[in-house]
Amino acid sequence: MRRCVLALGVAAAACAVERYPGDEVGVYARGGIALDSVTFDQGVAVEVHADGKFVSPSDRPTHLIQGRGAYVRATWEVPEGWEPREIAAALELTQIDGTVTSQVRRRWIDGPGDLRYPDGAFDWFLPGEMMIPASSWRVGFYEIEGARIDLLPPAAHTLPRARGPVGVLPGRHEIELLVVPIDHQFSGPMECEGPPEFDAARVQELYDYLGRINPVQDLVIKVREEPLVWTESAANLTKILDALSELRETDNAPPYVYYFGAIDPCDWGSTAGFAGLARVPNEPTREYAWKRVAVGDMRRPGHPSNETFVHEIGHTQGRRHVPCKGTEGNPVDDYPVELGKTGSYGFDHFRWAIHPPAHADYMSYCDPTWVGAYGWNQVRPVIQRLTWWKDHDEPVREGAEGATLMISLYPDGASKWWIRRAGTSATATMRATWYDEGGDLIARPISVHRSTGETTHLELALDDARTLPRTITLTSDEAIPLPLLAAALHGRVLHAPEALLEHSLDPTR
Ligand SMILES: [Zn+2]
Repeated sequence: MRRCVLALGVAAAACAVERYPGDEVGVYARGGIALDSVTFDQGVAVEVHADGKFVSPSDRPTHLIQGRGAYVRATWEVPEGWEPREIAAALELTQIDGTVTSQVRRRWIDGPGDLRYPDGAFDWFLPGEMMIPASSWRVGFYEIEGARIDLLPPAAHTLPRARGPVGVLPGRHEIELLVVPIDHQFSGPMECEGPPEFDAARVQELYDYLGRINPVQDLVIKVREEPLVWTESAANLTKILDALSELRETDNAPPYVYYFGAIDPCDWGSTAGFAGLARVPNEPTREYAWKRVAVGDMRRPGHPSNETFVHEIGHTQGRRHVPCKGTEGNPVDDYPVELGKTGSYGFDHFRWAIHPPAHADYMSYCDPTWVGAYGWNQVRPVIQRLTWWKDHDEPVREGAEGATLMISLYPDGASKWWIRRAGTSATATMRATWYDEGGDLIARPISVHRSTGETTHLELALDDARTLPRTITLTSDEAIPLPLLAAALHGRVLHAPEALLEHSLDPTR
């Protein structure tokens, strides 16, 4: 019954639906049973009816979205002296064109409903195609056929006869992600096993794990055919993130695509304390596309790897850590629920289960985890905006105009230069000077900022990706506050690697 699909606006339905057309056949339940709460749950339970009243969409903790299935639960209250018996509850959904669909459930009622127990609520599942804007809902309780109505107390119509808004937010919410298998070739304590393999079943796992905890109607997960070869230690994951950021650029990836590097490390790895690392874009902009990258230890399929994957993708959606254990780095200070708990029930489309409010947010280090309204409110607008780009952006990107020279300075003294075809993503904090080919001194603002890990990123706007400064000198700009970082870099001279100078001359890149 659960997965039955109702065909909207069509008489035929994929499963039998009993219709209770009001007082004539199914008599309204007698004896004072009243609707208590109704939640629509697409992953985070949203009360649409509480304390005997409708909750308007603007008063809810988070949104319901279009095209994603919803698990609906309704609880009831009964007065003293309630005569235990079977009651039918009908969930009616009315679409904007007047189409009404109804699903009926029966339950033995001998006390009040309670969401903590599986049999403490009437429940229904509405498939994604029924979650559309401008629809309204109603739950009615009915006596079942054969009930001795004449012996029961008179009908007490404390049930809402009016319909309440479902409050579905219009628009598409989709995540598109590329898994980049990383071929780690490094002489380490473990044997190199090659890149993790992603067959259809494993991709489906990623789909299920990410899809169940994100407000999306669909996901597109692809696997890059050519792995990224990594010949350094896996201890410095920031370097791998830089390689992935650059790969996004080389692949000419659209700004809405997330890159996830999957590594089976020959050294370091989750046994030595890391599970994954990701960039956190400060804003969901096209300029920050380079930060939509993450890496995770995916040596084995299964729960821990998949949880790492979901957590790291959370960072690339702009989410920071939620404090729970206390060891979470750089946590948010406005998480609204104590101990990092989700604070609400959450329906799991993948396991077909309800997660309790005591689960911790998946951006904490606690376990088990789920998601609450806070997390959804952070990622949903990001997903919506990226999906909008996907649906509206021109497929062909502009040429080399608006290029940015990226320089990564690593704690070990090494550096990496690469070019992005987009504007700078951070405000300028220093000045860069160099001589152009005619011997004139050029002075330009340059952004200096710390990224995840101890890597310093520099961003310099270029007129043209084919004309690179060969040597730049960094000078602090007193007008701009970033004293420590700027002071440490003042006077530093950076040289472009020869390989990049040759590479950047190729306009077809
Ligand atoms: Zn994290």
